Amino acid sequence: MNGPIEGKVLTAQALEAVLDISPDALLVVAADGTVAAANAPASRLFGIPEDNLAGLDHRSLLAGDFREDIRKLFRRLLARPDLHPAPVQTYCLHRTGTEFPAELTASFLPGAGRQRSDTGQLLLSVRSTAHHSSAAPRREAMALLAATLESTADGILVVDSDWNITGYNEKFLAMWGIPEGLLEGPRDITENPQTEVMQLVLDQLHDPLQFMARLGDLESNPAAESHDVLEFKDGRTIERYSRPHRSGDEILGRVWSFQDITPRRQAQERANRAMADLAAQTEKLRGMAFRDPLTGLANRAVFNDALAEALRSPRLKSVDVLLLDLDDFKEVNDILGHQAGDDMLIEVARRLRGCAPTADVVARLGGDEFVVLLTACPNADEIATCMVRCLRVPLTVGGTVLRPSLSLGLASMTSEDQQAPELLRRADIAMYAAKAAGKNRFLRFQPDMMTELVQRTAMESGLLRATEHGEISVDFQPIVSCQRGQVVTFEALARWDRDGGRVPPSVFIPLAERTGLISGIGTEVTGRAMLRVAGWLAGDPSRSLAVNVSGVQLQEHDFAEQVLRLAEASGVAPYQLVIEVTESVFFDADCSLVKQLSTLREAGARVALDDFGTGYSSLGRLQELPVDTVKIDKSFVSMIRTGRERLPILSSMINMAHSLGLTVTAEGIETIEQANYLAALECDSMQGYLFSRPEPGHRLHVALSQADEVLRALKEQ
Ligand code: C2E
Ligand code: CA
Ligand code: CA
Repeated sequence: MNGPIEGKVLTAQALEAVLDISPDALLVVAADGTVAAANAPASRLFGIPEDNLAGLDHRSLLAGDFREDIRKLFRRLLARPDLHPAPVQTYCLHRTGTEFPAELTASFLPGAGRQRSDTGQLLLSVRSTAHHSSAAPRREAMALLAATLESTADGILVVDSDWNITGYNEKFLAMWGIPEGLLEGPRDITENPQTEVMQLVLDQLHDPLQFMARLGDLESNPAAESHDVLEFKDGRTIERYSRPHRSGDEILGRVWSFQDITPRRQAQERANRAMADLAAQTEKLRGMAFRDPLTGLANRAVFNDALAEALRSPRLKSVDVLLLDLDDFKEVNDILGHQAGDDMLIEVARRLRGCAPTADVVARLGGDEFVVLLTACPNADEIATCMVRCLRVPLTVGGTVLRPSLSLGLASMTSEDQQAPELLRRADIAMYAAKAAGKNRFLRFQPDMMTELVQRTAMESGLLRATEHGEISVDFQPIVSCQRGQVVTFEALARWDRDGGRVPPSVFIPLAERTGLISGIGTEVTGRAMLRVAGWLAGDPSRSLAVNVSGVQLQEHDFAEQVLRLAEASGVAPYQLVIEVTESVFFDADCSLVKQLSTLREAGARVALDDFGTGYSSLGRLQELPVDTVKIDKSFVSMIRTGRERLPILSSMINMAHSLGLTVTAEGIETIEQANYLAALECDSMQGYLFSRPEPGHRLHVALSQADEVLRALKEQ
């Protein structure tokens, strides 16, 4: 039907000739919709005489649902006369009122005036398709389709069984950005994919090949339904449904519906992301709840659960708890800083895990305390030994080489009905015993450790009584000047005689420090010592009295004041006092501590750094400390055996101290060789059993004469 009249102005005669010869029903419709002319086949088809057809509104020849379609087509053709729309499936109305299916093809007949404004006419060719199918269901299907096209929010495309486009809606055009009118004219959307429309479609897709493949599948299988998702290059996601267009058993073609699910997909993606975030956070929180964040080990809660579980389990032959605590960790933290402390803990955790790969739990309980749970482990003792040994391997932290050590208590399940707290308490007691026995070791819990614990508690109350009743006494040990060859100082040392025996200061002083009794003891010792040696001090202003002072005492804001008051009361000049402190007091030196020491120094007292060399501090650090004297610890002195060995550490300590303007006292001198060696290094003073053991106050003269005797002997060599 396309072609012969295209673009040309038909004369009235030519038109009449066309009407006469055409076997198809032809209607010429004017711009106002009235039928201008019709031919004989048209008259037959509609059951209306030719003459009666002219002047009728063409819509009266169409079934109600389809009237608007033709009008739309007309309008489109008026706007673009060059279009050749695809045949329209429609229903026409016979004079008798029966509807019949027909295929309508429209062509534009331009007006004679050749003006754009000069309205032309529409040539409608109507071909009944009633013979193809039983009319009623097909009509229904077509009507339904037309209604659907109008009402749906989806983009709809309908093709007939030959894949010619027979319908679509505005939404479809908008969705694919297809210009109005481009779909007019018969187009087979599969056979000719290069057509403008297909190209337009394919250009927008991420995966045009898949799109084409799906079309191919459906073409070969007209009854198939399909559902897929199209990803557009502009980020949109469009869902595509396709199902056969049926009328009863007959397949009329295919309906495609397109739904823009971009917002839905974006919402889904946001929801998925939120869910993933939430899951990650939950995982992290769970991790935090069960793991020690610093070392990655389990935490106390995990250990407690695992231990309780292990003790409940009747099958287990053995349950061992290894409780361990780093030795002197506080010093690492205080001197080298918290970062170094953290690094050390991380490394310790690594080593512990390495020693106990089969452990049920290796946990950090907090601070420098760790615990290991072993179940059904045949060699708990070996693992404990391994831990103690492995920890001793030096490690470098912040440029400083450290040799960590730990005290470990091991307790094992002894009866079926043992409770977790009891087992832990035993491990704790064993660990405490390991510390008391000199650290850097492991001890297995023994029942008599309980007794020791009880004794320790008893000792605490005993010490309290002793302090209250003035039962703490003082011994004095002389310190000699190498240069002057005489006793220049007495060091006051606290003594506690209990139940006829003597409790060593190394036991009761730490106890006193822990319980706070040390202040009372310190005042007692200082006061008594001053009274005892005041006379001796008065004999020579260069003589002095040394007293040991704990860090705990220096925390007191009136400590210096108290000491000076005691000195005044006993008639001792402040410049004749030496305050002995260990370097640990400077670890977390607060203002008060520095103030106490400087008040005393301003009054003339000197400060001696006791046990020098045993801590973590370096020689270099000496410079910063407010001290006048260093006391080299006896462990260094004991390295001198023959007196002929080379001990550079001793000479450098002495030289260093001297270069900083400090005097040096060596402690623990027990042999002539040691005394000679140190004298040769120009050590200023010496103290030790060689000269005299600490003696009670009433035997000061004994201590003095002994020391003098040794000094004379040394001189005479
Ligand atoms: P320290 O201040 O280093 O005291 C020296 C310790 O070495 C004393 O032990 C002394 O008896 C011992 N000693 C002296 N010469 C030798 C020797 O040639 N060889 C050996 N092996 N040891 C020797 P002591 O009296 O048992 O005191 C132990 C620690 O107790 C003292 O060490 C001191 O730190 C502390 N201490 C003693 N009395 C007091 C006190 O009144 N207050 C405070 N805060 N601490 C005190
Ligand atoms: Ca001392
Ligand atoms: Ca000492």
